[in-house]
Amino acid sequence: MDKKRSPIGIVGAMDEEISAFLSKLDTVKESSWNHFRFFEGTLEGKEVVISKSGVGKVLAAALTQHLIERYAPSFIIFTGVAGALNPEYEIGDIIVSRDLIQYDLDASALGFQKGDIPFMPGFRIIKANESLVESGAYYSPANHKVHVGRILTGDKFVTGDTHVLRGEFGGDAVEMEGASLGLVCMLNKVPFVVVRTISDKADHSATVDFGSFLPEASKNSVGIVKEILKNPNSL
Ligand code: SAH
Repeated sequence: MDKKRSPIGIVGAMDEEISAFLSKLDTVKESSWNHFRFFEGTLEGKEVVISKSGVGKVLAAALTQHLIERYAPSFIIFTGVAGALNPEYEIGDIIVSRDLIQYDLDASALGFQKGDIPFMPGFRIIKANESLVESGAYYSPANHKVHVGRILTGDKFVTGDTHVLRGEFGGDAVEMEGASLGLVCMLNKVPFVVVRTISDKADHSATVDFGSFLPEASKNSVGIVKEILKNPNSL
């Protein structure tokens, strides 16, 4: 495959999650499809294409499929914020996805386990690429921890009742796009990893914490994404 046609995809759900990356991009070429925009350039000496999906599973899936078909990325990094489920995680810490589950896919009335995609065994737990996870875990920021854990994805901003998400699914953090991007990558055999800075604890103060932390979010994630880009083990 032509090297020029294999940039690394960097995706966030919101402007705040990609803005710091865009400001660091060299030689930007911009294009669009539908209401999605794509910014091609170099970061850490690597060719990248950066895009914003919008919030939720459907937009994340649509953007990811288009990104893959149009750019044939060698791998995709999702970067953004998430609510913590694991009581050991603090706001500002980073989670690197070992694996992800669509926790709101619920056909349990038909006897399926919650999170199962009916009639698609092997697609409940969406595993991120191990070498990308390792590269991310290698990052050690000054004031926060980097955790490798399980991310749960669903079309809901979670502000409480997290015991099921933690107890039943073993989730460490919750958000609204990761498993969807991961599933599309899995179907297309494109390696991926999700890295999220903890913006809130998915509890009654989540909306306040989320709002005050979001402007910092992409700045916080720049370090770990750069680490993955420059780490020679990253594929
Ligand atoms: N832009 C809107 C809505 C953001 S929805 C606003 O500013 O209010 C929250 C986004 O952050 C989603 O993209 C989701 O992936 C992530 N997120 C952060 N904390 C979350 C939580 N507690 N529950 C679910 N998603 C969360």
